[in-house]
Amino acid sequence: MKRSFGILPDGREASLYTIVGGGLSAEISDYGATLWSLLVPDRNGDVADVVLGFQDVNGHRTSTTYFGATVGRNANRIGGAQFVLNGKTYSLPANDNGRNNLHSAPDSYAFRMWNVVAHKHNSITFGLHSPDGDQGFPGNADIEVTYRLEDDGVLKIVYDAECDQDTVFNLTNHTYFNLAGHDHPEKAMAQTLQMNATFFTVADAESIPTGENRSVEGTPMDFRTAKPIGRDLGEVYEPLKLQGGYDHNFEACGNPIATLCDPESGRVMEVETDLPGVQFYSGNFLVGEIGKEGVSYCYRGGIALETQYYPDSVNHPEWPQPFTKAGEHYHTETKYIFK
Ligand code: BGC
Repeated sequence: MKRSFGILPDGREASLYTIVGGGLSAEISDYGATLWSLLVPDRNGDVADVVLGFQDVNGHRTSTTYFGATVGRNANRIGGAQFVLNGKTYSLPANDNGRNNLHSAPDSYAFRMWNVVAHKHNSITFGLHSPDGDQGFPGNADIEVTYRLEDDGVLKIVYDAECDQDTVFNLTNHTYFNLAGHDHPEKAMAQTLQMNATFFTVADAESIPTGENRSVEGTPMDFRTAKPIGRDLGEVYEPLKLQGGYDHNFEACGNPIATLCDPESGRVMEVETDLPGVQFYSGNFLVGEIGKEGVSYCYRGGIALETQYYPDSVNHPEWPQPFTKAGEHYHTETKYIFK
């Protein structure tokens, strides 16, 4: 099934495509290859839409929340909006704090029309061509993102890409989840989170990593045992203060890297990935955006778990590197498993 998602200012029409499988149903847009809705039953079989989104494509176009979007070529921040590859310096737009780059914006893949490569009952694949110099990155790149609903409540997102020069590939999905339903933003912080993460990357006031990987032990960043997300948010702890809440990269120590649970409905979501990090963002910059069905998404009304290479890893050779060689195949997978 396919339906209109609205008309862009240049006259192009965006669409929403339905996929169904494994007891789940999702609608995904060709604008930003964006996960727009995800219907998940609770323990009584009551279905809720557990992801945040805007009513139409222009809501997504004019917001920097990145609800559900595919972010690339590089997700999260690059300090000084610059990096060196093969001895050459590449400059990107300084769209964050006037100094750094965030999400490869302003021309992020989140704001592009993607081509539909294949649409089946339980999966959809989008393709995007990103030319040499696009956003400041080297090489002509061809990128595909596939969303697939598999048996047993699994939403799998697969990324494939190739480039004719050495380049950066660090794509993520920026969905904000609320397992109580997107229309219950007041319940997001009561959900429990468990993370298989012993270290997080400390960041400065502009959210650029300092290079320190700090143990979560004895800090509000410790999610090794499940706890309500909001429980320690009020604690006096420099990294919480600097980032305005949770907005940090956690080192993935094995799968599932994260388990989110809504005690009231009984919905549980596990996240599995082959990527080295996950940015846990507690929706600190939500300001009452009006989303689907007129719902106002208040401060901390949803959370993102963005699987990716560490922020600014292009400038930290000691960390796992998001570079792909010319002609090499980039392939990563992240699963959201509903129980
Ligand atoms: C970043 C946040 C940012 C949000 C929306 C997240 O990935 O870590 O700092 O506000 O995206 O752009």
